[in-house]
Amino acid sequence: MDSKPVASAGSLPQSSRTQLSLKGTRISPGLACGTVWVAGDILESSAETSRIEPHQVEAEMERIRWAFVQVERELEESARRVSEQIDPSLAEIFRAHQLMLESLLSSNEFERELRGLTSAAEAVKRVFRKWEAKFAAIQDETLRERADDILDLARRVLRQLEGADAFGLATMPAGSVLITQRLLPSEVVAISTRDVKAIVVESLGQGSHAALLTREKGIPTLAGLSGLLSQIHSGDEALVDAFREALIISPNPETRRDFEQRLENYRASLLTCKGECGKPAITRDGQTISVEANLAAHAGIDTVIENGADGVGLFRIEELYFARELPPSDEELFSELQHLVAPLREKPVTIRLLDIGGDKAIPFLRLPFESNPLLGKRGVRLLLDYPQLARTQLKSLLRLSQAQDIRILVPMVTLERDMQQIRDLLVAVAHEMRIEKLPLLGAMIETPAAALTVGQIVRHADFLSVGTNDLTQYTLVAGRDNATVSDYYEDTHPSMLRLLGIIVAEASGKPVTICGEMAGREEVIPTLLELGFRAFSISPPLIPTTKELIRSIDIRNLRGQR
Ligand code: PEP
Ligand code: MG
Repeated sequence: MDSKPVASAGSLPQSSRTQLSLKGTRISPGLACGTVWVAGDILESSAETSRIEPHQVEAEMERIRWAFVQVERELEESARRVSEQIDPSLAEIFRAHQLMLESLLSSNEFERELRGLTSAAEAVKRVFRKWEAKFAAIQDETLRERADDILDLARRVLRQLEGADAFGLATMPAGSVLITQRLLPSEVVAISTRDVKAIVVESLGQGSHAALLTREKGIPTLAGLSGLLSQIHSGDEALVDAFREALIISPNPETRRDFEQRLENYRASLLTCKGECGKPAITRDGQTISVEANLAAHAGIDTVIENGADGVGLFRIEELYFARELPPSDEELFSELQHLVAPLREKPVTIRLLDIGGDKAIPFLRLPFESNPLLGKRGVRLLLDYPQLARTQLKSLLRLSQAQDIRILVPMVTLERDMQQIRDLLVAVAHEMRIEKLPLLGAMIETPAAALTVGQIVRHADFLSVGTNDLTQYTLVAGRDNATVSDYYEDTHPSMLRLLGIIVAEASGKPVTICGEMAGREEVIPTLLELGFRAFSISPPLIPTTKELIRSIDIRNLRGQR
């Protein structure tokens, strides 16, 4: 969508700029105001000046050598851990990267650039870009892909040189409105809510992982504003209204006053809902609906407790892997998870096995090239292929489950045998550990095949959890990250509602939770209740208002309203 001005300039501009109002689409609800900070790729921007004095040449070369040594150590460590914990063949990629670094450093190209009096960072960018261009021009597709590896290496070296994170967030002032062209999950993970009041992205898919992380963090977020970066600058004042899907730059005093009033009302109503959030959500006709939290490690359990969750319906553990860039051992995973979930005590915590592959890349796991990864080796398929990776997790979760109500969830189940094999593995690991009490094991239903054969899958599952983010993309054939087909990505399409109805009806009476993003949308909740869902798992900041909404509903009156 193009960002077109939708309102005219105000009469009393505060700065030299007149008010600019732009229309976007809501990714995460909320209101916020702050100063614009435009993010850049570390390859495109640099905190360093690009020119140096002749006497600095040798010192700059020393810095480059030092940065290379650090990156080589990072790669060595990645190779060692991947080799030990996953598969030695996957470590080869890091070794190949080390070789690339060695040949680049011995080429004398950095010295040549530095002698032209460019800084270390600038020299690194130039040399790596030259090599990237060489690889990109090669006919052979596999070799051509190495061009991306070159840029990745360049980013690693630059991070060492500048001490900045990938996103350049280290230089962002607290309380900013982050404006960016694209947003990756690992970048949202790196963002602290203290530093970022709101995010505005040029282009982002509704169901993308980055999008749902913004909801989990409760950061008001807008997308669908292509060309935005050419219209605004760091330092501009911005009002973000993710309810009305509006971004206002350089507001006039009247707009600012109105906005501040709305912000105050919004905060007050949130406070009221929060005051009641510890109580159960009981509909007017007396049905108790469980409202649980989708949890991500960065958010911490505090947000789950503060927002009155009835448990954790989906704990995505991928972040524990993203953050390290290395796979944790079962001991490390156990202590990290234990630390995270212990405060929940008697409430149920459903932890999903690592769901990677497809659209979710993990730095240490350089998976073989697939022409269509979303239809490839992902979720449970990958776990069954790398049983060591699955065993590490099962071991930690089995241990955890002996002291707390921990449940295990299996991602991306398609076939009955996916579930059967994971159950067999769980039983085998428990046997090795001499553990008799098995935790509940659930299947995620997020493919149409699984939805239509729920009756078979549920034979090996104690409960089901419906992942509508993936179910939507596979049913409507529209990538959840792909903003260009967002009008096809319709989670309330009749085909979706039919599948959801089938899942509830054919679950053989076993509990069914809905944990996709649609479960947190106020306008959809009545439909889901009518379809028979009685357990929702949503982003923690949405829990208080969702509970309040459920309390106002009489399910008997919903019949036939769809
Ligand atoms: C889903 O697909 O709906 C889901 C909850 O899993 P994720 O978003 O992590 O893929
Ligand atoms: Mg999913």
